[in-house]
Amino acid sequence: MTDRADLRTDVLVIGGGPAGAAAGYWLARHGVDVTIVERKTFPRDKTCGDGLTPRAVHQLAEMGLTEPLSKYHRYHGLRATGMGRELELQWPSHSVFPSHGYVVRRRELDHMVAQNAVDAGANLLTGHEALDPIIDRGFVRGATVQTKDGVTTDIHAKYVVVADGANSRFGRALGTFRTREWPYGTAIRTYWQTPRHAEPWIESALDVKDRNGNPLPGYGWIFPVGDGTVNIGVGLLSTFRDFKSVNTTHLLDAYAHQVAERWEIDPTRPEAKATSGRIPMGGSVGPKAGPTYLVVGDAAGSVNPFNGEGIDYAYETARMAAQVLFDAISANDPTALQQYPRLLDEEYGDYFKVARLFARVIGRPALMRELTRVGMHSRTLMEWVLRIMANLLREDELGPAEAAYKAAAKIVKLAPNA
Ligand SMILES: Cc1cc2nc3c(=O)[nH]c(=O)nc-3n(C[C@H](O)[C@H](O)[C@H](O)COP(=O)(O)OP(=O)(O)OC[C@H]3O[C@@H](n4cnc5c(N)ncnc54)[C@H](O)[C@@H]3O)c2cc1C
Repeated sequence: MTDRADLRTDVLVIGGGPAGAAAGYWLARHGVDVTIVERKTFPRDKTCGDGLTPRAVHQLAEMGLTEPLSKYHRYHGLRATGMGRELELQWPSHSVFPSHGYVVRRRELDHMVAQNAVDAGANLLTGHEALDPIIDRGFVRGATVQTKDGVTTDIHAKYVVVADGANSRFGRALGTFRTREWPYGTAIRTYWQTPRHAEPWIESALDVKDRNGNPLPGYGWIFPVGDGTVNIGVGLLSTFRDFKSVNTTHLLDAYAHQVAERWEIDPTRPEAKATSGRIPMGGSVGPKAGPTYLVVGDAAGSVNPFNGEGIDYAYETARMAAQVLFDAISANDPTALQQYPRLLDEEYGDYFKVARLFARVIGRPALMRELTRVGMHSRTLMEWVLRIMANLLREDELGPAEAAYKAAAKIVKLAPNA
């Protein structure tokens, strides 16, 4: 049996993860009447590496969260490992982004950001799943939502923000689709206890090996959480050899054994069963705007293909969407929504195109090996690579990283959109 009630709001946000909570926060700050529906109740977990890079830290600061963030584990940069070598690379300096990151379990991070949206004035309905869009004369005008007890409510809205993550069932109901020819990723992770939980570097392995030392496709990470544990995971791109047939559980097991001694973990005793997720990337999901809705975060495939970061892009795309919706509401002009894809393209279009090409290049094992070999022998080269891959290029300064990126972008601009 279902009870049916009706609610009204100016903007309805589907999903209360990084993208949905940030959209709610920025809309509320603009004085817009906004409701977020989240099917889970906070605190809730989300499969992730938990790594916040300088771009994410910047967005959290912009949302007024510097102080609560400071109690979590802060780190200085990346330790790259590969070919039997190690390089510790400080986050580069930048006029906008800080030179540090944090590692925060998503269980805590997402709760904090969602609460911040509520404190700013957003209405948050947790334990509410959006089932279907409400369509009125061909336009999306809200959603039918349901609680776990089966209570159904129609939430009517002028505009809808789709922030329901990588699988984006709601987005698919509105007609979004992933460009199948473009790369995507998959990753798996869990936590291990270790005395090295508070290391000041996150670590990334460019070569993962099985127990006999044979190379396996994929890259590994170890992110110290500062709470007695490290988050260890492995990721793969769809461009990698054997992508479809790789068993990621076995791959993570191999990586955990590879790093066990150095990281002082018992590879046979993770804190919990490993979980995995898909990573849509490079802006591969669209359309990003309809006449009355915008798509943000993973639902729009916003993850950076260079490194699998998506939290920062979820915050950023949500903020752009909130600005555009505010413009549409204040001018009473729905056509303003069509600015959003243009803004995304200006911000990420060329960069994601270069990154997608990179994903194809490193999918060739011989090239990947050669790049790793050359990179691991040159700190300077790896410093540029880090600046490019973490999207920390400077607009106001033309250093070697910016020059290398510009040269690559020039070539890629001429290439087909792949
Ligand atoms: C293994 C792995 C490791 C990763 N590591 C990192 C990392 O270290 N750093 C990084 O920056 N990124 C990382 N990412 C990517 C990052 O997790 C995502 O980019 C980020 O979570 C995107 O945020 P989002 O808000 O778009 O989606 P999500 O975080 O997926 O949030 C979507 C929310 O919507 C809710 N929802 C879904 N459907 C509905 C519905 N119908 N009704 C109501 N609510 C709904 C969900 O419950 C969820 O809370 C990783 C991804 C994976 C899979």
